Amino acid sequence: MDQLAENVQRVRERMGKAAGRAGRPADDIVLLAVTKTIEPERVEQALEAGVTTFGESKMQEAKQKIPLVSSRARWHLIGHLQTNKARDAVDLFELIHSVDSVKLASEINRWAERAGKTQRILLEVNVSGEASKFGFKPDLLSEAIGQISILPRIEMAGFMTIAPYAEEPEKARPHFRRLRELRKGARQRYGLALPHLSMGMSHDFEVAIEEGATMVRIGTAIFGERTRHEPAE
Ligand SMILES: *Cc1c(COP(=O)(O)O)cnc(C)c1O
Repeated sequence: MDQLAENVQRVRERMGKAAGRAGRPADDIVLLAVTKTIEPERVEQALEAGVTTFGESKMQEAKQKIPLVSSRARWHLIGHLQTNKARDAVDLFELIHSVDSVKLASEINRWAERAGKTQRILLEVNVSGEASKFGFKPDLLSEAIGQISILPRIEMAGFMTIAPYAEEPEKARPHFRRLRELRKGARQRYGLALPHLSMGMSHDFEVAIEEGATMVRIGTAIFGERTRHEPAE
């Protein structure tokens, strides 16, 4: 087995164990392989290794890469999206994890309508309150949900968050728990299903699964350390 296939298998085993600890079925949890800076050939290898769903963080990179990869691959946008790129995002992505304003949601709704589709989205929530992070502030989330849930071409499928990086993965737990609690509040207030919580990356995905993640976004643990660093937006 090649290194990449081995990495995928190892990640799946760890996901399964974490799901077991939480008393959840392992196939409740989607493994999203994060392919930023990764060449199309390596994405194909991950497909061969049984990964079906991939996450990109930059529109420009995604637009170049997606047409070069087998159409079997399913794509999610996980990085910040500018309003003026909503049209391309609607074209390319099955799920947009990073909706962080009502204005962006409206723009996505508009282009989804033109494309004759319903766009699935997640709302990104800045649970840690770090200034460097995108996402709704928790105290503004509820009002935004009210406004976004009435957009006819949007299917709001849940929330996404990025925990602050810490050596100790356990430190991420309160942030993941907070996201789950915010969902509970939103479910009660709006009666929405909000089935998905996108949380957990290479160093903290097991904790995220224990706290209810239904999608984990894994780059390094599958493809290895990224050699090329992306410029900040
Ligand atoms: C890069 C990235 C990931 C994956 O990070 P790793 O630590 O390499 O697993 C997950 N989510 C987002 C939003 C990212 O930008």
